Amino acid sequence: MNVSVVLFTADLRVHDHPPLRAALDGSRHVVPLFVRDPAVDAAGFAAPNRLAFLADCLHGLDAELRRRGGRLVVRGGDPVEQVREVAREADAGEVHLAADVSGFAHRREERLRRALAADGRRLHVHDAVTTAVAPGALTPSSSDHFAVFTPYFRQWSRQRLRAPLGAPRAVRVPDGVASDELPSRPAASELSAGLAPGGEAEGRGRLAGWLRSGAAAYGERHDDLAADATSRLSPHLHFGTLSPAEIVHLARDAGGPGAEAFVRQLAWRDFHRQVLAARPAAASADYRTKHDRWRSERSAREDVDAWREGRTGYPVVDAAMRQLLHEGWMHNRGRLLTASFLTKTLYVDWRVGARHFLRYLVDGDLANNQLNWQWMAGTGTDTRPGRVLNPVTQARRYDPDGTYVRRWVPELAGLEGPAVHEPWKLPGPARAALDYPDPVVDLSDGLARFKRARARD
Ligand code: FAD
Repeated sequence: MNVSVVLFTADLRVHDHPPLRAALDGSRHVVPLFVRDPAVDAAGFAAPNRLAFLADCLHGLDAELRRRGGRLVVRGGDPVEQVREVAREADAGEVHLAADVSGFAHRREERLRRALAADGRRLHVHDAVTTAVAPGALTPSSSDHFAVFTPYFRQWSRQRLRAPLGAPRAVRVPDGVASDELPSRPAASELSAGLAPGGEAEGRGRLAGWLRSGAAAYGERHDDLAADATSRLSPHLHFGTLSPAEIVHLARDAGGPGAEAFVRQLAWRDFHRQVLAARPAAASADYRTKHDRWRSERSAREDVDAWREGRTGYPVVDAAMRQLLHEGWMHNRGRLLTASFLTKTLYVDWRVGARHFLRYLVDGDLANNQLNWQWMAGTGTDTRPGRVLNPVTQARRYDPDGTYVRRWVPELAGLEGPAVHEPWKLPGPARAALDYPDPVVDLSDGLARFKRARARD
C-alpha cells in the first residue's frame, strides 16, 4: 500500500496513536487530515473556548508532524466528502480513524465506510484510542452496557490495556495534497479570560508535572475546592492530546493511593462513554426518566439567569459559576453542587444546565457532561437518584474556611472564615453593606414548592 489517510478527530496527538501507527506501518506515505465540519458548529458545539483550545491543538499537531517531516492537512466541509476527496487526490487505499461514541460519530463512521467502499477503499476503525477500554469491550450478562459504575469498575480494573505506542520517527506526506490554513483562535474578547492553552506538548508537560507532584495527594485533596488539586487534564482528554490508556499506564507506574484514586476517575470517563455508545439518545433524553415536570428555561428565567451569572445568593454556587465563566473550567465538586442546585433545588430541566456548561467548558464533552448532568438530576445512572446536595453543607465541607468563595466572589472578600458561606446571617447593617443578593430560594422548601406548582400547571 502506498498511501493511507489518517482522519484525526478527538485524538489530536502523535504519541500513542494506533491509527497513525497502523497507517505508517502499512504505507509509504500518509496524509494526516483534520476536517472542520460545519455541522458541528451548526449543532451549537463550536463554543469559543473550545475553538481556541482546538486551534492550539491543531497548531501543536502540525508542529509535531513537521518535526517528523510531515504536516497536517486541514479541510472544511462534510467530513465524508472531504475524506473521499483527499483519498482520491492522494490515491490512498485506506483510511484510519479512531472509534468514537456519540450518535453523530457513529453515523459519520457508517457514512464514511459506505462512501469509501463505493470508491474501492477501506476504512479501519481503531478502538481504545479515545478511551482506555473500548465501549462494548465489557458488558454485564444481561445488557449491552453497564448501568452501574461499581461493577463496571471492577471489570475495567482487571482489563489488560495495550502497551502505549511511542510517537513516530518520520511521517512522509505525499506532495500535492492541498490544505486550508490552520484555524486561528477566536478573538480574546470572546474567550474566558483565564482559559488554559491547548496542544499536545502542553498536555504532556501538564501530565508529567501532575504525576511528579500532584497525583500522590489526589485521594485526600481532590474534593478541596480551594486547593485546586485535581489534574486539569480534562480538556486534553476531550481533544485527545493525551491518550487515556497511556495516562493509566503512567499513573499505575507512579503507584500509590493517590494515583489509584485518579485512575478511578479515568474509569468514570470510560463508563460514561460506554453508556453513551450504547444509548446515544441519552445525550438529550432522560436515561431513566422519573417523569419530572421540570421548570423550563422560560418559566424559570430569573432563577436560571441568576444561576448562570453567579448571583443566586448562595456563595459557593456563585463562586463555582463564576469560575466557569472566568476559566472555561470548573472544579468537579463545583460542577456537582451547581448541577444539584439547578435541578434539585430550583427544579430546572437538566438540559438547561448542560447547555450552559457546554457553552463555556473547554472540556465540554457530550458523554461526560450530559451523563454527569443526568447523574445529578436523578435521571441517569446514580443509584440514589433522590440525593440533593445542600450548598451550605457542601460549602462547609469542601471549602471549610471560605477561601474558594472569597477567590471568586469579591463582594464577600471582606468576610472571614466560614461566615462567608451564609452572608444572610450577618447582623442587619453588615448585611446591608454587602453588594450581594439575597438567596433566590429558601433551601427548606424550594424543591417541594416548585414541584407543587408544576403539578398544578
Ligand atoms: P481529575 O479529577 O484530575 O480527573 C481526571 C480525569 O478523569 C478528568 O480529566 C476526566 O477526564 C475524568 N473524570 C473525572 N471526574 C469524572 C466524572 N465525574 N465523570 C467522568 N469523567 C471524570 N468532564 C468532562 O471532561 N467534560 C464535561 O463536559 C464534564 N461535565 C460535567 C458536568 C457535571 C454536571 C459534572 C458533575 C461533571 C462533569 N464532568 C465533565 C466531570 C468532571 O467534573 C471533570 O472531568 C473534572 O472536573 C475535570 O477536571 P480534572 O481534569 O482536574 O479532573
